[in-house]
Amino acid sequence: MMRQGSAHPCAMRSAVKRSAGHACGFPALWTMAGRDLAVWMEIGMRLLLAEDESALADWLVRTLAQSGFQVDWVADGRLVRRALRSTHYDALILDLGLPGLAGEEVLLSLRQEEDPVPILILTARDTLAERVATLRAGADDFLAKPFEVEELEARLLALIRRSRGREITKFSCGQLVYDAGTKRFELGQALFSLTAREHALLKTLIQAGGEPLTKRDLLERVFTGDSEVHAEAVEVLIHRLRKRLMHTGTQISTLRGLGYVLEVAP
Ligand code: CA
Repeated sequence: MMRQGSAHPCAMRSAVKRSAGHACGFPALWTMAGRDLAVWMEIGMRLLLAEDESALADWLVRTLAQSGFQVDWVADGRLVRRALRSTHYDALILDLGLPGLAGEEVLLSLRQEEDPVPILILTARDTLAERVATLRAGADDFLAKPFEVEELEARLLALIRRSRGREITKFSCGQLVYDAGTKRFELGQALFSLTAREHALLKTLIQAGGEPLTKRDLLERVFTGDSEVHAEAVEVLIHRLRKRLMHTGTQISTLRGLGYVLEVAP
């Protein structure tokens, strides 16, 4: 739905001389900031509504449709993730009191998976403690029932505006691409899955923009908050990551006296 540019070819070289390959990681930026509402309405906004009160849901689907939103509706918390996986939504309207899986659980699991979809919570249980708890759990906004649909629309538009205006940055090295928006690596068009530590190390390398990073740099950035870790842990991790990167066209090279750098394999 959101138009995205292609990743920047990794053609820039760092000032550091090296014998083979070339350094990677320069970001390609694109953003929808500055587009006005009329343009967004032309693009169309698609919402997912998770609400078990069918009369309310039915009314919301029809009312929001009149304002240009396309709304899909699920009545069970367990169906939210499946819907989000199959379709791109601009925002999720999430009722907290849902059968199957409570709204709080849905919210937590989406944020644990780092799903970036903007989430507006709808609830009848309006207390300060609950507002604070849901916002802390990763909700973007909160609206108590009963509400005016004009307020819901205004809040949704503000959410989508913020979300679309956010810069999405991609870092690439050959076929390997890191999307800082979704926090995922892709190889070609396919998801390139890694362990949490491998992910952190590779992200650090690809975002370094071709500058070599020392073992100490990597230790500090990858093992944050873990003072027990020694430099050997970085070596082990580099070794594992080199194996994972075999035949991908991207490699981690060692520059003597300078550190490690990610580059396109020669
Ligand atoms: Ca409910």
